[in-house]
Amino acid sequence: MEKRVVVAGGAGFIGSHLCEELVNKGYSVVCIDNLGTGRMDNLKSLLKNKKFTFKKYDIRKPIKIAGKVDYFYHLASYASPPYYQTKSIETLMTNSLGTMNVMEFCRAKKARYLITSTSETYGDPKEHPQKETYWGNVNPVGIRSCYDEAKRFAEALTMEYVRKHNVDARIIRIFNTYGPRLQKDDGRVISNFIDQALHNRPLTLYGDGSQTRSFCYVADQVRGLIMAMEKAGLAGEVINIGNPNEFTVKQAAYMIKEMTGSKSKIVRKPLPEDDPARRKPDITKAKKLLGWEPTVQLKEGLKYTIEWFRDGK
Ligand code: UDP
Repeated sequence: MEKRVVVAGGAGFIGSHLCEELVNKGYSVVCIDNLGTGRMDNLKSLLKNKKFTFKKYDIRKPIKIAGKVDYFYHLASYASPPYYQTKSIETLMTNSLGTMNVMEFCRAKKARYLITSTSETYGDPKEHPQKETYWGNVNPVGIRSCYDEAKRFAEALTMEYVRKHNVDARIIRIFNTYGPRLQKDDGRVISNFIDQALHNRPLTLYGDGSQTRSFCYVADQVRGLIMAMEKAGLAGEVINIGNPNEFTVKQAAYMIKEMTGSKSKIVRKPLPEDDPARRKPDITKAKKLLGWEPTVQLKEGLKYTIEWFRDGK
């Protein structure tokens, strides 16, 4: 029988790519999103498809969807630092109360569940690269804690629903992901730099730009999420999905300036509080359990992303 899948946060950047892939696989997809940062425009290729349904819905309220559900992907949350810091209490509640509503729904429907957690659960890591077994170095009361601690709570709650209620749940820790549909006002490094470069505005380098990130192209990320959902026997597993190729933020700025042919200057801005100094996933577990590894490297992925921004989407 045809699979029926719910994607919470399906109108967002990663969620909308995920919905497209799932519909392409022939599944029936119900997308729920409160449109906090998600956009209907992200779904325009799907809205006329009979296999696709959109419902404006906030997971902080108990979830009601009639009929069977095989898989539930939980991607609903503010996710970029400027947004989750502005919407801090909403972020805390979506990941706590919202996650509980999702888990109760999955328990009642006997749906398999995947939650997208984050590399932020490692905080400003003292171990490098980050393995899933690392407990992290998080400031519990800092300006990022509304996201970091909310996701850590969501992970803890997920594990208790596995232990106490046998929900077939897996936790995926997403590392910095980029690609078409990143919103230009999202405040993330790749979207800021591309938007600035294309308008010949100064590229805003926070701190000295020596902090590192490891950037994963969205198609690789989505493929990893689907593989993690569809592999049986992963209840209670925590898996990093990200590209382990590490770049300094300064390198990313120069790459984007060069690739766009921009006349922009690169200017320094203060480093935000608690900004992690280094970040790189250890993906041994994803390779072993899922046979997943990224195939699109930064230069190629940036090319597609710059093209999308140029088209003025
Ligand atoms: N950053 C930057 N300039 C910008 C936006 C971000 O130098 O205009 C830096 C930021 O300080 C961080 C890194 O780029 O070190 C990645 O930031 P982002 O907000 O994309 O995500 P994070 O990984 O911090 O959640």
